Parts: sequence; structure tokens; C-alpha cells
Amino acid sequence: MMTYDAVAIGEFLIDFTPGGTSPAGNPLFERNAGGAPVNVLAALARLGKRTAFIGKVGNDPFGHFLQDTLRQEGIDDKGLVFTDHAHTTMAFVHLGEGGERSFHFCRQPGADEALAFEEIDASLLGGARVFHFGSVSMTSEPSRGATLAAVREAKARGAWITYDPNWRPALWQDNQHAKQAMEEGLKEADVVKVSEEELFFLTGADGLEAGAQLLMERFPVKLLLVTLGAEGSYYRTRTAEGRAASYPVAPVDTTAAGDGFMGAFIYALLENDRPVPEWTDGELRQALAFANAGGALATTRRGAIASLADHGEIEKLVKG
Ligand code: ADP
Repeated sequence: MMTYDAVAIGEFLIDFTPGGTSPAGNPLFERNAGGAPVNVLAALARLGKRTAFIGKVGNDPFGHFLQDTLRQEGIDDKGLVFTDHAHTTMAFVHLGEGGERSFHFCRQPGADEALAFEEIDASLLGGARVFHFGSVSMTSEPSRGATLAAVREAKARGAWITYDPNWRPALWQDNQHAKQAMEEGLKEADVVKVSEEELFFLTGADGLEAGAQLLMERFPVKLLLVTLGAEGSYYRTRTAEGRAASYPVAPVDTTAAGDGFMGAFIYALLENDRPVPEWTDGELRQALAFANAGGALATTRRGAIASLADHGEIEKLVKG
């Protein structure tokens, strides 16, 4: 059977990002592929890994644009489902005066949230070494149930499960619902990547180490990664914890930094090819260094997929 280094499932949408002003003074928007799970696969594909995506788009020009994006990035698109019953999800990104981003979503509901388990190509669940998930599609049906069933099936068939909740408080509306969705994800995951904001929201703790300890007590996670922006990242396993500093860069756009980090970490996971609990502290630190560099480099260029680094760049930054 065909095997993949990594398969991911989740949201997939069009991001319209501000791109100047028309001669008549109207804002212009640039069309880009959006969605964290695909960004992670694009990072892995750029690092030479064999990847495939599972998701749903509308049978409309935007859905076909997203399919072209997968193909251009070398991500297998056989798990991409087209529907005539919902439109491709779209988001308009607004940049505030301080550079902060806000989103306006067109989702009623969007096609990516309409994915049902029966629509998933079963060969993608049996042939994955790493199965990655997590996004807003965990908060509505049928995509929530489809995602969890796919994760369980991939796990039963030997995949390592990686999870990034990608919680965006402004988009996920009600917090109780968001927490429930994240807890369901945490029950299934071997490796989890969260921001400090997500960690504190999930545990109620107000310190990094305390929050990490609580999360590891509550869920069967084998490795917890917490991204700390310019400060790098923190890790905790059942037997060790520590911090890994990032690298000095000149950020221009932090979009997809977390996805560049996660993609580079999964690359290291695949290269090591041994369960994380067996890793030495040195191997863990090396993987974190690679991941930090993948995240740092993604901040030095504009855009999401366009900003992701290749192997040579990451290695150069890590070796200094
Ligand atoms: P997210 O909140 O999306 O998970 P972060 O902004 O924390 O992402 O960035 C992810 C990773 O990228 C960080 O853990 C770090 O390794 C790297 N990174 C992000 N911003 C910077 C920066 N300004 N300088 C150096 N590294 C950075």
C-alpha cells in the first residue's frame, strides 16, 4: 500500500489579505490558501517529505484554486473532497494599525466543516506514519466527528498522532465549546503543540511549568510543546522538561510561524523514527532547535505557505 510520511486533516480556506488600494480608493485583496493543517504539510513537503491532505472544499473556483495549491506544493490531493452543497470557506483579513490581524469569515457553514467520515479515503488512514490534526473544524459537525474518527483509525493502524488546536478566541465564539473540542483532541494526541494562551485557557494555570504539568496529568500526551514566540519553545515529556531558545531574526509577518515550527518538528520526528519516550535529551533538543528555526524563518517573509523554509535554510540557522 502507498505510504505517506504525514497526512493531515482539517480546515482549508481562502484568506483574502489586504493588497493595496484601487485607483478609486477601494481596498484590494490578495487571494491565498489558508488553514494551519495544510501549512504544516507544505512545510514538510518543502523539507522533502511525502504528504497528503484530507479536507473538503466547494465545487467552485475557490475550491479548484485550493486544489491547485496542494498540487503546486507537492501535497497529494486525493483526499480532497468537492461538494456542490456548500461554498469554499473564505476569510477576509484586516490589518490593524499596530499590524495585528482580525478576520471576517464567510462560513454558512463552509465546505470544510461539512466533511463526513464516510467521505474520507480510507487508504490515507492506514498509510500514514504521522497523522496531524486540529483547527476550527473540530468545533462543528460533521467535521468534528469525522476528524476524531479519522484520528482514531489512523492511530489504531500505527500512526503517531500530532495535534495543534489552533484556538483563535475571536473565531471560535463560545469558550466552553472551544475547551470541549480541545479536550477531545488532547485525549487522542501523542504530541501536542500549544501557545501559552492555549495552555493557560486549558488548565487555568498562570505559569508555564505549572500549566504543562497539569495538562500532562490530565491527558495521555507523550510530548507537550509550547511555542513562546521570539523566546523559542518549551517542552515536557513524562521524564524531562526544558526550554530551547530560538534564533535572532528580523520578523516581517508572523503568519504561519507556528505551522513552520510544527512542520519542522514533525520532520525531526520522522527522521528519528523512534517513539519520543525513547529519545535522548540531546535528540529532543536537536528536534526543538530545528523546529524553532523553522518557526523563526517563517516570520522573515510575508504570507503563510510562501514564508515556509527549506532544509538548507533551517540547517544554516541552526548551525549558525
Ligand atoms: P504560534 O503562536 O502560532 O504557535 P509563535 O509566534 O509562538 O507561534 O511562533 C512559533 C515559533 O516560531 C516559536 O516557538 C519560535 O521558535 C519561532 N518564532 C516566532 N517568532 C519568532 C521571533 N520573533 N524570533 C525568533 N523566533 C520566532
